[in-house]
Amino acid sequence: MSNPFYITTTLPYVNAEPHIGFAMEIIRADIIARWKKSQGFDVFFNTGTDEHGAKIWQKASGEGIPVQEYVNQCAAKFRDLKQLLNLSDGINFIRTTDPNHIKATEEFWRKCDLRGYIYKKNYKIKYCVGCELEKTESELVDGKCPIHPNQEIQLIEEENYFFKFSEFQKPLLELYKKQPRLVVPDFRFNEIKAFVERGLQDFSISRLKTKMPWGVPVPGDDEHVMYVWFDALVNYISAIGWPEDEAKFKKWWQETGGVVQYCGKDNLRQQSAMWQAMLMAADLPPSKTIVIDGFITKNGQKISKSLGNTVDPVGIVSEYGVDALRYYVARELHPFEDSDYTEEGFKKAYNGNLANGIGNLASRITQMMIANQVSVEISEEKVENQIYINAMENFDIKAACDEIWKIIQKTDQRIQEIQPFRLVKTDLQKGKEEIAYLGRELNKVAVLLSPIMPHTSRKIKEAIAENKKTDTLFPRKE
Ligand SMILES: [Zn+2]
Repeated sequence: MSNPFYITTTLPYVNAEPHIGFAMEIIRADIIARWKKSQGFDVFFNTGTDEHGAKIWQKASGEGIPVQEYVNQCAAKFRDLKQLLNLSDGINFIRTTDPNHIKATEEFWRKCDLRGYIYKKNYKIKYCVGCELEKTESELVDGKCPIHPNQEIQLIEEENYFFKFSEFQKPLLELYKKQPRLVVPDFRFNEIKAFVERGLQDFSISRLKTKMPWGVPVPGDDEHVMYVWFDALVNYISAIGWPEDEAKFKKWWQETGGVVQYCGKDNLRQQSAMWQAMLMAADLPPSKTIVIDGFITKNGQKISKSLGNTVDPVGIVSEYGVDALRYYVARELHPFEDSDYTEEGFKKAYNGNLANGIGNLASRITQMMIANQVSVEISEEKVENQIYINAMENFDIKAACDEIWKIIQKTDQRIQEIQPFRLVKTDLQKGKEEIAYLGRELNKVAVLLSPIMPHTSRKIKEAIAENKKTDTLFPRKE
């Protein structure tokens, strides 16, 4: 296969349970991965876990577990998402504690250092442990990080290594001009452009080992460990063999035109400015596209463990099934802006669009086909719906879903109007032709659903091909 496509999620910190926000990110990335695969692309889909850093060290120490053992347990929970969320076969799972990743971070550091982009200086900053980011006074609200109002801002003073981010203002602005689709959606792209235009400050990339013993030692200086950015972000290239496997790296980084990176809006700066500058510093080509998701709130409130209002994707899947969750994050949550989750909203969408929508339509049509001995020839269908194709290519999965549900609605209406179950009694031939037409429409819907709701799509296609009724796809919930 020749047409390579590379897509990745961010690597979540392993110190918390997988949450609904990450479930949304990885399901959306999976939908794009499955879509590209269906279009004949050779797809590399990467995810994994970020396992170094102060938060993880503190948590493991607090629980009295050796830290490697602790991260092994945590990583397993994220690995389980593959099964739980029905993610693509062959998904790559990288851990920042993997030996080959650690080797890559060392080489990446050395390269940036050799090219003059790393230096050591004394350092005093305000710092949010939640974001793992420095905060300027203007970013704080009442002296606290607005994303982590429950955590105290830390004052840090020590000698650290720094990355010369400030030298990349012009090159980044040039990159943004050259790649007008680098960041999706546009309003996020404008946000990062404005941030870079205001001027950039060098950022710290190491910590003293005495303070943060859980990290990759800085090459040539055992007193320091690499701080999150030169460790975690490098996974996007270590996952595809950099620096040792040149052929593999060339295929997935160069022949693809770069990686597609899914992330949440709290990662905008890291992914679309810091990481792009780091790539330039290491003399590597930029990413292709960075897709920025909004946040999910619950009943209008920010979701956080300390507020005790988390939304558990495992619970949703066991109650409603994986395709219901996949549908929900694909269509019911805003593709790019913040969205609110409520249990009632979920149930309403489930009953309205799954039980009564696609579920009801599939059972009506397959029932009519069986009762009237109508079968339709299905060859593996090519997607020709241009609205759907454009939406998928623009990462607007909601718009692609809206197009599917428009067809579902139109087909429902057609059944109401033509009433083929009556028509067969007065004009058998015409009635059968109508039912066959509906069967082909249903199959079309199943093909379009395939990357979004793979189980549902397969069940419908099988029912049509084998001339049987679909089992109740989505039992109504009271
Ligand atoms: Zn924060």
